[in-house]
Amino acid sequence: MTLTITNPTLVLNCGSSSIKYALISEDDQTRITGLAENLGLDTAQIKHTGLDGKKQQIQIAGGSHKLALQKILELLEQYKPIAVGHRVVHGGREFTKAAKVTPHVLAEVKRLKILAPLHNPANALGIEAVNAIYPELPQAVVFDTAFHQTMPPVAFRYALPKALYDEEKIRRYGFHGTSHAYVSDRASQLSDATGPHGWLTAHLGNGCSAAAIYDGRSLDTSMGLTPLEGLMMGTRSGDVDPGLHLHLKRTLGMTLDEIDVVLNKQSGLLGISGLSNDMRTVGQAAEEGNEDAKLAIEMFCYRAGKYLASLSCALPVFTGIVFTGGVGENSAMIRSKILEVLRHFKISIKEDKNASLYGGAEGSFHGDDSQAELWVIPTDEEYRIAHETREALGLTQ
Ligand code: ADP
Repeated sequence: MTLTITNPTLVLNCGSSSIKYALISEDDQTRITGLAENLGLDTAQIKHTGLDGKKQQIQIAGGSHKLALQKILELLEQYKPIAVGHRVVHGGREFTKAAKVTPHVLAEVKRLKILAPLHNPANALGIEAVNAIYPELPQAVVFDTAFHQTMPPVAFRYALPKALYDEEKIRRYGFHGTSHAYVSDRASQLSDATGPHGWLTAHLGNGCSAAAIYDGRSLDTSMGLTPLEGLMMGTRSGDVDPGLHLHLKRTLGMTLDEIDVVLNKQSGLLGISGLSNDMRTVGQAAEEGNEDAKLAIEMFCYRAGKYLASLSCALPVFTGIVFTGGVGENSAMIRSKILEVLRHFKISIKEDKNASLYGGAEGSFHGDDSQAELWVIPTDEEYRIAHETREALGLTQ
């Protein structure tokens, strides 16, 4: 039997040294997935999972983004993708939804590297590489920031001089938009509560962010101008006193670039535990009695709970909380600890249901008397990007 995949969309997530890809059928029933990693290094390779689930590894020593994409498109050629959707990190103020790639859109993706220096250039490389290989294939860009562009000024402005907003576009943008959009939509489909719904969504992975979403619109979120603001993350600090930069410069003579490395790469779970940015490793060490690991977990949960409580201020109604991302989807212990922080919210948990939700399971775990629903919804950014790509290109039936 020949396996087929109907009218598939190719979803590409081009990072600085990796490309994640998924070929998704129109009805979302079939997928081919893969990852090109270590691009530019001798260890560059593609890990590919075919339609039949068979895995293969293809070595492309020294391979660039362009070479990796060439190989990926060769691997997928027989399935004839009808469109390509790129996850792009920053869409600035102009992009409030997914857009068809035109010369203007590509130029904007490149220009916005000022706001996402590591990511937008890699995204632009991906667009250009596909264009060079298949100039006829329509492409769309789906921005991580777009979903949050419904935030009101009261949520997106910083209390800074107006000129910095007007002239330099300094404001809060928010990220993880496709994930917050997907899980809040899904929660609204699954919930029995009469709408419109108000959700607090907690995307807890390596990067972590929370959002307040009412009736399908983002009203506030924890990340800001960059993905550094907000919750404590794997290696990122989240909120710190903005006076910290000056203090470190004065006392330790650190440069801004050095401070940036500390805040983005050496902080969060890794910084506090001194062990790892991986919640499983930190959790294991905490169980074995490591005090720094215990504090890392307590801080992670306290700060997530505190942020969720503050984001509830944005919601006209509060229907419930949705957990997603690697930590949110898998760790009942972290979910419980975060909900303990919200002790004034009259939330009750079904512990056995909570413990049963991991490894891709979707479901609710609130008690019968809980004032808010509690959901675990595995995120599916690829599905959402494929969907938005077809919409932006006018390919939906
Ligand atoms: P990314 O933000 O890179 O997409 P993920 O959403 O995959 O990351 O989340 C990665 C995080 O999820 C890591 O900290 C990892 O330890 C954590 N994680 C994965 N499985 C579990 C688990 N069973 N229990 C606790 N944490 C987990």
